[in-house]
Amino acid sequence: MAKPSEKPALSQSITTLKGVGPRVGEKLKNLKIETLQDVLFHLPLRYEDRTRVQPVGGLQPGHSAVIDVEINHAEIVFTRKGRSRRMLLCHVSDGTGHLLLRFFYFNKTQQQQLTAGTRLRCFGDVRLGASSLEITHPEYSLIHNQQTTSLENNLTPVYPACDGVSQFLLRRLSDQVLALLDNQLAELELLPDMVLKKFALPSLKQSLKTVHRPAADIDLNLMDQGLHPAQQRLAMEELLAQHLSLQDLRKNNRRHQAIALQSDNQLQNQFIKSLPFKLTGAQQKVQQIILADLKKNQPMMRLIQGDVGSGKTIVAILACLKAIEAGYQAAIMAPTEILAEQHFNFACQCLQPLGLKIAWLSGKLKSKQRREMLQLIASGEASLVVGTHALFQDEVVFHRLALIVIDEQHRFGVHQRLALRNKGADKTGVPHQLIMTATPIPRSLAMTAYGDLEHSIIDELPPGRTPVKTIVLSEDRRGDVIERVQQACRENKQVYWVCTLVEESEALQCQAAEDTQKLLQQALSEFTIGLVHGRMKPAEKQQVMGDFKQGKIQLLVATTVIEVGVDVPNASLMIIENAERLGLSQLHQLRGRVGRGSQASHCVLMYKKPLSQQAKARLAIMRETNDGFEISRRDLQIRGPGEVLGTKQTGLLQLRIADIVRDEHLLDEVKQLGEVLQQQYPRQVKALIRRWLGDAQQYGHIG
Ligand code: ADP
Ligand code: MG
Repeated sequence: MAKPSEKPALSQSITTLKGVGPRVGEKLKNLKIETLQDVLFHLPLRYEDRTRVQPVGGLQPGHSAVIDVEINHAEIVFTRKGRSRRMLLCHVSDGTGHLLLRFFYFNKTQQQQLTAGTRLRCFGDVRLGASSLEITHPEYSLIHNQQTTSLENNLTPVYPACDGVSQFLLRRLSDQVLALLDNQLAELELLPDMVLKKFALPSLKQSLKTVHRPAADIDLNLMDQGLHPAQQRLAMEELLAQHLSLQDLRKNNRRHQAIALQSDNQLQNQFIKSLPFKLTGAQQKVQQIILADLKKNQPMMRLIQGDVGSGKTIVAILACLKAIEAGYQAAIMAPTEILAEQHFNFACQCLQPLGLKIAWLSGKLKSKQRREMLQLIASGEASLVVGTHALFQDEVVFHRLALIVIDEQHRFGVHQRLALRNKGADKTGVPHQLIMTATPIPRSLAMTAYGDLEHSIIDELPPGRTPVKTIVLSEDRRGDVIERVQQACRENKQVYWVCTLVEESEALQCQAAEDTQKLLQQALSEFTIGLVHGRMKPAEKQQVMGDFKQGKIQLLVATTVIEVGVDVPNASLMIIENAERLGLSQLHQLRGRVGRGSQASHCVLMYKKPLSQQAKARLAIMRETNDGFEISRRDLQIRGPGEVLGTKQTGLLQLRIADIVRDEHLLDEVKQLGEVLQQQYPRQVKALIRRWLGDAQQYGHIG
């Protein structure tokens, strides 16, 4: 325990503060607050202005305010439907305007106090009621002879709180810590003077004081938007810490040994010659970059981005061939059974003609097949292994694994990425990793969430693709849509009809697809209508897809299983039901199934009424652009990084004060600053990472 005369340590436990016993201390752990320093970096979410009394006439709904008012009239009323639900309503005014105070809970004393003529000081959230502005359950105190509760000197911070930890407690803690540490705040500065000057940043001390206790005259608007220089400086520091930690992972990765792949590329060239098309310039460029990576004895960690249909699969197969011809094995992993299956089929089609053996692994294999596959993999007889997560179970022993390709990375986090790599490691080193995203990710996300990877973009589509024209229609117009389908089929075009997830159950989704097929078959009896969904046996699915590809089926009703990999150039019309419920990236991915041939293609997005403003805006984006990068950028603005990355639950990229959409403009500076620190202030780098990421950084050092 520190003596009073000693300077309190930053790492001192919060239980040394007033008001924090062991029980409260435990609760505060839920907010990751254990030390004095943690209190300082537990930053407010927003602010309340209790520094001044506002005229009622100038109040805006949606903001909180202090008002001084007199009760003109008070009454008890009963809610319309309520059997005996009472409410106390006080009609108040201050000479500039009128307002209603509404109380659902009140006692006798309050009822006696709150009568006409009484003067009150209130604080609360102002909202627009049926006939006037209202405050429900304001905090209030009576005004006696001009005496009343005093106003605050600073804006009041509102902190992230949790069960058992009130705002009051959090404010008391930050008050104490700011006072205790006042003399030491300057020592917390991790950014060198030169850097602060160069980027014109306020000091950490100034910034922390400002965000915890903003002065009464500060620009509240700016504070609410998180754009005050004090907030921006902290956001910058957080992004910097995030960036540096990912850079650190990169560096750490380079210390690992990997197999340098040597070969004459004969197998690759043979495969390229067998293709019915020429590689695009972008594919060739990325292929060369990958080849250069694979020759090194450091593990490749590369992310390949490219729009839907840009031909990422071929590039991945080429990388696998490099490993195989150098005498090693490669593995392709996909996050779902269906995707993995599609890759397996495609790999068989491409590689069996070259005399290569491919093993298949999924959780659903029968034990006999499974044993056979494990044997093929362990003996090295299988050159390529395709599968789901099952690939990385303990019993799977590779003979000589040199490359792992992960498709659709954005469902995995940094942790999983590293765990996978370490699973594949053996005495000779860790395997190279190639990661492919299904859809492009905006630059800001790429830099913050994938900063540990090298990036390449396939920024060109194969020739002959025609942009898809997108139409947004209410499902009331189903009749018109069916007519349109009929017309297309008569013109020998092929059509997808996609039934999307309405209920969170695969069974119900498949049922919906079956029902839709029956209905459409009745309406369009002249055509053959097929059905694919996730609950069909693989052989059945393949049969249907094969028939569609050969044109034996004109209209294919499907669940979102066709989201990936399906390739039928003659299909030029797609109908998507309940489009408003899907993410933009997923819609883009689905839409990418048409527009693969030379004819003009269309996509009809059907929605259910009523459509929210946000849903309307999202569907409009789909209509406006076919550019996957633009779509993901806009999706990020609307839905936020958790949804876009598909990792909302994993807590990837939980930032305390930074916001990658709002603060995107800081990223260039963050990069520059990062370089300066790495080169000249390596100790600061470690301290920054510890400050903002704490133990989360540990995952970088597995194995
Ligand atoms: P994605 O990048 O969306 O994964 P795919 O790899 O599935 O795209 O490729 C989409 C389609 O384009 C496939 O049918 C593939 O065979 C074809 N394709 C790939 N590269 C080319 C190319 N250079 N020229 C023509 N077609 C190509
Ligand atoms: Mg793909």
